[in-house]
Amino acid sequence: MIDVRFLDVKQINQNGFEKLLSPYKSKFQDKDNNLTAVKIHPGEEGNSSYIPAPLVKHIVEALELPYRRSFLTDTTVLYGGRRMTAPDYVTLAYDHGFRMPDLPPFIVADGLTGTDEFPVKLPSHCTTTTARLASILARTDNAVMVSHFKGHLLAGFGGSIKHLGMGWAAKAGKLYQHSSVKPFVKSKKCTLCKACISVCGSSAIDTLEKTVQINEQRCTGCGECIQRCPTGAIGISWNQESLTFMNRMVEYALGASMATTIPVYVNFLINISPDCDCMRNEGPPLVKDIGVLASSDPVAIDQASLDLVTAASPLDDNAAAGFDKFLKIRPDRDGNEQLRIGEKIGLGKREYRLVTV
Ligand code: SF4
Ligand code: SF4
Repeated sequence: MIDVRFLDVKQINQNGFEKLLSPYKSKFQDKDNNLTAVKIHPGEEGNSSYIPAPLVKHIVEALELPYRRSFLTDTTVLYGGRRMTAPDYVTLAYDHGFRMPDLPPFIVADGLTGTDEFPVKLPSHCTTTTARLASILARTDNAVMVSHFKGHLLAGFGGSIKHLGMGWAAKAGKLYQHSSVKPFVKSKKCTLCKACISVCGSSAIDTLEKTVQINEQRCTGCGECIQRCPTGAIGISWNQESLTFMNRMVEYALGASMATTIPVYVNFLINISPDCDCMRNEGPPLVKDIGVLASSDPVAIDQASLDLVTAASPLDDNAAAGFDKFLKIRPDRDGNEQLRIGEKIGLGKREYRLVTV
């Protein structure tokens, strides 16, 4: 059975991370000569729940990753904001504290504008034939995945699996994953404030006389407008097509796990917000901070993360201890689907043993 190691929130310090990560330190292949990626999410501008730079530094130090052979990295996104192109993204990461000399350099993984790709052929039991991943993976020898566990608009929750699948995808891969999920406008709720238009990086929202309308051909399905609408006028249908999104995301995660050696996945169960680090307003935490998990298996660590959040008492009127907090917020988006698909296609196992360090 796979071990998922647990560091209590009260033990979050350098010593704690050394205990948490000690079994994985020697698993990085020739880290003095090879190149090691530290996959992070430095947070969208205005977001405050991303994993702070000093905590990432604890991981780099605990794994003894040499600064001259390691780099922090992430991919560009489909929507407007400061993560759409590499120069803007690097300055945002710098503004959020991810900078030398405290940490290895932050390098964007999919080129200047997200078009630099590394194709990875997926096994024949997947519905996707090739995962279009970030080009940096072609030359990356080792990687550590540093993920924030929290709610997610389309996937129910986001942890290691989502970080692998969406987080390593080049723009075309992100587009492929989202393309089955197109939002629609409930015209009766629309006040024509045009906030959605201002964030749509694809110019996919047209103004009509009393409402706006999404052009399905131009829409990439990034979901940014849903979050931005102040009246809840933009929705998506949770149907077979949304399950297609989840399936593609998990298949991409398998592709990323095949593209490089990933000795350890780290999930932070702090600031467990309803929405993800791509959002400018991610909302207040659902439960108290829990701690940090580490495992060699992305499915096991997400299962353990979900189980710990489910077991926790809510901070507001969310689901009681023992009930799924993410399903309570979005009853039509069951994140368990990620875990079921992940196990089915061979990404990892749901069964685990929790080891408190
Ligand atoms: S319409 Fe919404 S989901 Fe579609 S591309 Fe624009 S912001 Fe993204
Ligand atoms: S943000 Fe919402 S209310 Fe404002 S124009 Fe867009 S759909 Fe209408």
